[in-house]
Amino acid sequence: MNPVRCLLLCLLVVSLGAQPSSKDLRASSERLRTEAFRTHGAYGDLAWLCDRIGHRLSGSPQLDVAIAWAQSRLKAAGLVNVHAEPVMVPHWVRGREAAELILPAPHRLHILGLGGSVGTPGGGLMADVVVVGSFDELDQLGTAVKGKIVLFDVPFKGYGHTVVYRHDGAAKAAKYGAVAALVRSVGPVSLDTPHTGAMDYDPAFPKIPTAAVTIEASTQLRRMQQRGERIQMRLEMGAQTLPDVPSANVVAEIRGSEKPEEVIILSGHLDSWDVGQGAQDDGAGTVVVMEAARLIQGLGLKPRRTIRVVLWTNEENGLRGGKAYREAHRAEFKDIIAAVESDSGSERVKGFSLDLHKATPEAKAAALASLKSLGAVLEPFGVTFRLGGSGADVSPMVGEGVPGIGMEHAATHYFDIHHTHADTFEKIEKDDLAHNAAALATFAYALAQSDLRFQ
Ligand SMILES: [Zn+2]
Repeated sequence: MNPVRCLLLCLLVVSLGAQPSSKDLRASSERLRTEAFRTHGAYGDLAWLCDRIGHRLSGSPQLDVAIAWAQSRLKAAGLVNVHAEPVMVPHWVRGREAAELILPAPHRLHILGLGGSVGTPGGGLMADVVVVGSFDELDQLGTAVKGKIVLFDVPFKGYGHTVVYRHDGAAKAAKYGAVAALVRSVGPVSLDTPHTGAMDYDPAFPKIPTAAVTIEASTQLRRMQQRGERIQMRLEMGAQTLPDVPSANVVAEIRGSEKPEEVIILSGHLDSWDVGQGAQDDGAGTVVVMEAARLIQGLGLKPRRTIRVVLWTNEENGLRGGKAYREAHRAEFKDIIAAVESDSGSERVKGFSLDLHKATPEAKAAALASLKSLGAVLEPFGVTFRLGGSGADVSPMVGEGVPGIGMEHAATHYFDIHHTHADTFEKIEKDDLAHNAAALATFAYALAQSDLRFQ
């Protein structure tokens, strides 16, 4: 063999040898899966997070504790470059809340103020209630709702469809002079559980207090109105927005052995609403991300690219964590191979959806085909790949061209307990967390071993 051909052949062998075969990846995946089900590390972490720290809204001492706890867990797992990246976050507090039906019959109602709402005047307010089923109905009534409380009784037809009433209801009602806005909880079923969540005011109209009522109460008030009865309610909310406070995103890495500058981000959000335990939203995503990295590290696998864990702050009421990350890391965007987010619950992962904002339809199709080329190693997990959304926290950088990937979970009961007192640990299936952690670890490792780029 002439020397030049020999050299070319040797280079070819070396470059092929740098990447493991699909057989090696399958073997690694099997080890990750076995270890995930042997240790159930994600489940153990979630129990601690829920039992010993609890819910963790931005500005709460519990979120600070969670940030410190996550760093210590990641350090203990042997990850490197473990640190907190400071972010200023909003500090909204709920205060005392009470709602009481006066007419046509006395009833105590369970409510949850919406995040960002103002409070009622001291001592609360008393007003008649008008029930509407849509923004169109409100527009038809117009200033007839002046001085009244508007209740948006809108049945759940999917989160995206219905959540606009929670988000914009107060602003729309304030436009016509309403003194408060209530929204039927955004969820498919209820055990008298109100669901909180973020809302926004329109600067053009007054800020009025706004809260979620339960499905039970919302439908009851509608029945009263249909019977032509006068509905009068007393509403008291002590909500207020205090000055911003310091918080942080938690970051940790497994440095790449060959291409450390190329990064795969695995992420979930550490903050939650101030009710329940934030077990599903997004405790589950957080512990699965931590566990995926811990499994890879613990088994001594050496990813060629860097795997970076990011646990976001302030997803629920500001997205300041995701926005601050975008500002601080813009120079790295070209080398962020993908920013993966797990924020759709704890049930078994069904797929990974690829979110490309600055790509032509042809480029998106080609990128999806690349992603699917990793599919064989994930077959045992039963996941599929598609184009779609990624996650709220990664969206600021995805908007600037970083490929986002959303971990899509079965959501059989996700919205039943979303943002409620009932988002607690015992709802979470132990084996689902182990399955999800192994699937995410396999996915991240396979991507780290490849040379795939999605744009
Ligand atoms: Zn979430």
